[in-house]
Amino acid sequence: DFTSAYFTMNEADVVEYVQNRLSVFNDDADLECREIGDGNLNYVFKVVDRKSGESIIIKQAGPVARISDAFKVSPDRNRIESEILELQGELAPGFVPKVYAYDPVMNCCVMDDLSDHEIMRSALLNYKKFPLFADHITTFLARTLLLTSDVVMGHKEKKERVQQFTNPELCEITEDLVYTEPFYDCEQNDVFEGTKEFAREVIWNDEKLKLETAKLKFDFMTKAQSLLHGDLHTGSIFIKEDSTKIIDPEFAFYGPAGYDIGNVVANLIFAYVHAHYTIEETEARADYLPYLEETIVQVVELFSEKFLQLWNETAAEQTATLPKFKEWYLDSILEDTAAVTGLELCRRVIGIAHVKDLTSISDAKDRTAAEKICLIAGKTFILDRTSIRTGDDFVKVLRHSV
Ligand code: ADP
Ligand code: MG
Ligand code: MG
Ligand code: MG
Repeated sequence: DFTSAYFTMNEADVVEYVQNRLSVFNDDADLECREIGDGNLNYVFKVVDRKSGESIIIKQAGPVARISDAFKVSPDRNRIESEILELQGELAPGFVPKVYAYDPVMNCCVMDDLSDHEIMRSALLNYKKFPLFADHITTFLARTLLLTSDVVMGHKEKKERVQQFTNPELCEITEDLVYTEPFYDCEQNDVFEGTKEFAREVIWNDEKLKLETAKLKFDFMTKAQSLLHGDLHTGSIFIKEDSTKIIDPEFAFYGPAGYDIGNVVANLIFAYVHAHYTIEETEARADYLPYLEETIVQVVELFSEKFLQLWNETAAEQTATLPKFKEWYLDSILEDTAAVTGLELCRRVIGIAHVKDLTSISDAKDRTAAEKICLIAGKTFILDRTSIRTGDDFVKVLRHSV
């Protein structure tokens, strides 16, 4: 009956659930439901009223990963997802789907159907351009990251929020998959055959790199700086010409602000290497690659500008007005951004979770070449992170790696 015990719903259950538990459709609605999820942990149902044409999305957290029972993650993460979507909707209006209901028994939430947008990763794989993206994402990043920090919030209230978004199981997934496993010859890694020797030589055999990633992992675990989205790759972004919506924040927790920005930059780089190896006409390539470079520059530059501007408008912490303090603070965010860009570039090549930008390059030689670029750039971003600050610095590392 949906009110006493959790179970994973199928499409028919969801129709019944909508009829019994929600009042979002008309009483005479003619409901149709389809499961459209493509992830590994959750079920995403689209429910349409054939009469009115209206539709909603219901996302239910599953009790185990779909590919392997070995990954057990509490369905309570759906609470985190629902609560942070609401909070982000207040902090950065217009950039996340509206949440209509959260159900702590069924571990599901009801939200806007964004089917008129497309997943950004797919759009970039089709070489589409979104001139407003950098402006949109940097507004979202500056507002969600600064307004949840000690710079703006009361320190007690902020610590309560840290507790509210304590997310140990999903943090552990990130600690393992992003910060640990890619940097040694871990059994769980999944490296493309042609890339494996290179990974061993350039990544696994580098003791300095291992030490730097260990330092970064401890930053990730201990630096409760900002409330992060926590999984901000281009598969978590719905986009169309004039609108950008960020979805899937189930990994949200308090961590280093640069984590989210670095994920955005790295995933633009994946689109870049994909385009580099798959666009055959010289002219088309010479048009699309500079667009992506410019987008990377804008993400870094607009973020920095908006962050400082918003700081001037909102900083409440008394030390925040000390001369040079906000510049120091931004500097450390950009250093973390460079580091995380590098971590994400390496882990998507070496670790178990891949990106289609690389796996869809069908020519094996090209795929290996593309993956080597990611590893070289990734390593450089990590090791040189103290000197990477401007949008041009980020693009230079990319260019030198190609
Ligand atoms: P997961 O946590 O399993 O990755 P996501 O939240 O990323 O789940 O959703 C998986 C897929 O479901 C998305 O890639 C998208 O295709 C679809 N989806 C998710 N949320 C919505 C939404 N609000 N509107 C339309 N489609 C959605
Ligand atoms: Mg998904
Ligand atoms: Mg997810
Ligand atoms: Mg997802």
